[in-house]
Amino acid sequence: MEMRALEDIEMAEDITPPLFPLTSALHDSFLSTHCSSCFSLLPNPPISHSPLLHYCSLKCSLSHSDPLTAAFFSIHPLPDASSDTSDLRASLRLLHLHLLLSHPSPSLSPPPHRIFGLLTNRHKLMTPQNGSEVFLKLREAANAIAALRRKNYADISPGTALEEAVLCLVLTNAVDVQDSIGQTIGIAVYAPTFSWINHSCSPNACYRFETPSDFFTTRFRIAPSCTDFVSDEGTCRQMGNVRSNILDFMREDFQGNGPRVVVRSIKRIKKGEAVTIAYCDLLQPKARRQSELWSRYQFVCSCQRCSAVPLTYVDHALQEISAVKVELLDSAPISNFDHDTAVRRIDEYVDNAITEYLSIGSPESCCEKLQNLLTFGFRDEQVEDGEGKQPVSLRLHPSHFLLLNAYTALTSAYKVRSCDLLALSSEMDKDNENRHNALTMSKTSAAYALFLAGATHHLFLFEPSLIASAANCWVVAGESLLILARHSSLWATTTNTSDWGFPLGKRMCSNCSWVDEFNGSRIHGRRIQADFREFSIGISNCIASISRKCWSFLTHGCPYLKAFTDPFDFSWPKTNDGDIGGHGIDRSCACSKTKDICFECEPQDSNQERESISGLGIHCLYYGGYLASICYGYHSHLASQIQNILNDLN
Ligand SMILES: [Zn+2]
Ligand SMILES: [Zn+2]
Ligand SMILES: [Zn+2]
Ligand SMILES: [Zn+2]
Repeated sequence: MEMRALEDIEMAEDITPPLFPLTSALHDSFLSTHCSSCFSLLPNPPISHSPLLHYCSLKCSLSHSDPLTAAFFSIHPLPDASSDTSDLRASLRLLHLHLLLSHPSPSLSPPPHRIFGLLTNRHKLMTPQNGSEVFLKLREAANAIAALRRKNYADISPGTALEEAVLCLVLTNAVDVQDSIGQTIGIAVYAPTFSWINHSCSPNACYRFETPSDFFTTRFRIAPSCTDFVSDEGTCRQMGNVRSNILDFMREDFQGNGPRVVVRSIKRIKKGEAVTIAYCDLLQPKARRQSELWSRYQFVCSCQRCSAVPLTYVDHALQEISAVKVELLDSAPISNFDHDTAVRRIDEYVDNAITEYLSIGSPESCCEKLQNLLTFGFRDEQVEDGEGKQPVSLRLHPSHFLLLNAYTALTSAYKVRSCDLLALSSEMDKDNENRHNALTMSKTSAAYALFLAGATHHLFLFEPSLIASAANCWVVAGESLLILARHSSLWATTTNTSDWGFPLGKRMCSNCSWVDEFNGSRIHGRRIQADFREFSIGISNCIASISRKCWSFLTHGCPYLKAFTDPFDFSWPKTNDGDIGGHGIDRSCACSKTKDICFECEPQDSNQERESISGLGIHCLYYGGYLASICYGYHSHLASQIQNILNDLN
């Protein structure tokens, strides 16, 4: 199915009212902290009718009551912590609704391809050849639900077809739900007005979730393709079924509960044009997106970005690797290596480093492994050249998608290490070695965050639908830079930072008006008096010029980042094995050999550097906030995150 615009839609406009889900379920790890009905934080004490589900209010508890779920979990204990039951719980609720609303009893006929107008995908997901984990999980769950229903209802046909259909529907149509701070807390399935919006890897719309307190006014500005356009009979009959189905649904049961979704345009959409959203992470190369979409939704994406020949610049940059033979370091790059295997091995390497950090909490080893990959490349023994396997050194383009993950991990790991060291060092002792090392790590953390923002921005300029990723990265960069600038115990200098509070009425930047413009609009909710292009170019030019001033200061201990002239430089670094570029690297210093950052480089912290970093941080934060307001409006999780960052500074 497809949804089309009923009228011309500008960029950054809500195009649906907030929609309640047909079914939703928290992930297991949030069951004890969030309301199972509306997904808001639980009061103390919450309302509970079972050890499993808790509610914030009587209204939530009543509207969520569901005998099938209750019966199911009274005979099946919750599985252990390693698996998640949200798909199962969402399916039980949907099955309950379906049984409640269907006349005659649906159990007697074969299950339809669509339930509530939504594709079940059962015939694709439940093929016996499909030996995947998903299939086995579905089988097991369908059997358990069917056994339960046979026990409680008399007129059940043998087999598990309906149970399978509902489970497959949930897997195919559910979206991840984020809370007000951006963490994914559960899943929800929405009616066709949302679920019929197709995927594109270069979409023109995105969506957000609203808390119960938000009010709404937007009407529907999109409709199924058969509404305005002549289409085949099947589609229209389908639409008729859905209408009566949904009307029944609204009348009989539904006061509405659960997290509401709102769709919003991120590009101009002409009347009659198809509205599209992303079903997968767009900062992945084509092959990755295709395999994710296939394994989860069983379709091959043929959007404009996927069908471009040759590959779009963004997809090329996200996957570019160069290989040179280890023995002949200055020889030209070779091309006859197995790209897929190489990516798989490097992916494993990066993944191990990050998992080790996240699960065992060992940031040192993570930093060392990732820095080693970045600075020295990846050694691989896989290239055949007639005389057997040749060791090659593989280097990833600075905007390779695996490196984007590595920059995120390094931002976090160096921040943690810096805080750990500071805890050891005393406030009084300004010349302490720990303080110096903590500063170097905090700078490296901020530099990686800025570099990631620069990389994402670079890709965003070629692919505007990456706007949400760019917004996120700019906010993280802004936060890291501001933490660095404002954390007085990091700095040997003593500066009075109280006048950095940017009181209203005082200009924040002497070179541009964009930060003040955004701050005014943020606080007073007024529209920015500039179009998107003008604002973006204006503020990113100012960011680039401040970055150039403090880049060498930020990166002085980091051999990899030093090799770039600034965080907007996305050419290949000049390479020699064991030394990228040599740009800015002092050969007499440990820099040239280190697998971590260099602590021996001469520090040069001054008030001036510190002030530019603070200004740069505000620019990044507000640029991120501006992009977030395009994607999500003024009340998104990023907007509240920005407010929290600013509050922490004062
Ligand atoms: Zn609630
Ligand atoms: Zn695509
Ligand atoms: Zn400026
Ligand atoms: Zn050094």
